[in-house]
Amino acid sequence: MISVIGAGYAGSYTSYLLAKNGFKVNVYEEHNNIGKPVRDTGIVTSALGDLIKIDNDFIDNEINKVKIFSEKNYLELDIKREYVLDRVRFDRYLINMAIDSGAKLFMKHKLIDFENSKKVKLRFSNNKIIEDDKLVGADGPRSIVANKSMLVTNREYLIGIEARAKLKTDETAFEIYPTLVNDFFGWIVPEGKGIVRIGIATRKNTREYFYKFLKEKNIKKIISMNGGLITVYRRDYNFSLNNLYLVGEAAGLVKNTTGGGILTGMISGQELARSLKENKSYDKLIKKRLGRELFYHDLIRKGLDKFSEKDYSELIKLLSQERIVGLIRKIKRDFPSTFVFSLLLREPRLIKFITKIIR
Ligand SMILES: Cc1cc2nc3c(=O)[nH]c(=O)nc-3n(C[C@H](O)[C@H](O)[C@H](O)COP(=O)(O)OP(=O)(O)OC[C@H]3O[C@@H](n4cnc5c(N)ncnc54)[C@H](O)[C@@H]3O)c2cc1C
Repeated sequence: MISVIGAGYAGSYTSYLLAKNGFKVNVYEEHNNIGKPVRDTGIVTSALGDLIKIDNDFIDNEINKVKIFSEKNYLELDIKREYVLDRVRFDRYLINMAIDSGAKLFMKHKLIDFENSKKVKLRFSNNKIIEDDKLVGADGPRSIVANKSMLVTNREYLIGIEARAKLKTDETAFEIYPTLVNDFFGWIVPEGKGIVRIGIATRKNTREYFYKFLKEKNIKKIISMNGGLITVYRRDYNFSLNNLYLVGEAAGLVKNTTGGGILTGMISGQELARSLKENKSYDKLIKKRLGRELFYHDLIRKGLDKFSEKDYSELIKLLSQERIVGLIRKIKRDFPSTFVFSLLLREPRLIKFITKIIR
């Protein structure tokens, strides 16, 4: 028997894959409502289609352009299709896949402690105590499983705040504002029907930056607000210990360029199912499948954090050239290692920015 803690994207998808592969799975979720409270913007690349069948029921909008703003100018790029998820419906879709494959879901079960020897002994806030063979921590950025096992220590966070509001924008484009803060960015993602998801993430004073951003966009009325912590990925995170495993953001598997953790979390579920089925090292599988790419995302983020407003303006100018725009159109932004060198070949002047990133 396998106990999965958390019925978010990573927990539900992992449970589905494990149950489909014949494992007996129990999923424990602290809340009484799947998908709520909403945490994120819900934008994912078309790589989602490699993991599950896309169902219009959980898609709010499709995007094929990105606009990157500096103070003076902006760059508009055509990109491969991306999806804006209806986050609650998507979460429910995933947990239903798990249940249909045989996983059992227990709501209002908050894990508060566990012991790990030959078996795992779990203690929940409703006083229930359960013994199981394996424990999967899919319990997000504040993961008790990761903390207590010390698999992920000294976790670093960004704080993200987002609102839904009415705003007139190009509903096929998402907008990025990298100069609003110096360690991440602000964003506007069109949900459709005149509503956007506008947010910002940074390490400090997020609330102040967020309200300043709303003011700049002349947004006075907010429909709803959400947000949370975003783990900053580091190479020294570990993912398993004996009969204990971490998936998704509990494992810190988040892209430091964008804060994206939905797809990486689902991919970690695939690797866990493979590891248990084929008796292979989970850590090795994760490092092979995601480690290198997450390292590149981290490298790029560290470089971007050093960019000034002037650097962004110059970079936007260089990237606006037609031959570069054509190349960017083809990239998969989940996997940066595939395009950095092609970009350099097309525009050697970009070396200045690459050097800044790796210095
Ligand atoms: C403002 C913001 C915007 C974001 N935008 C995007 C985006 O556009 N695209 C993207 O890819 N990523 C985005 N992210 C990141 C993304 O939300 C996370 O990486 C993703 O939710 C991680 O999924 P998960 O299933 O690992 O964890 P979570 O979604 O956090 O799910 C964890 C689950 O575990 C449950 N749980 C926690 N502790 C316990 C416990 N002790 N016992 C029982 N249950 C427990 C929780 O209730 C929850 O259901 C954003 C994050 C933020 C904060």
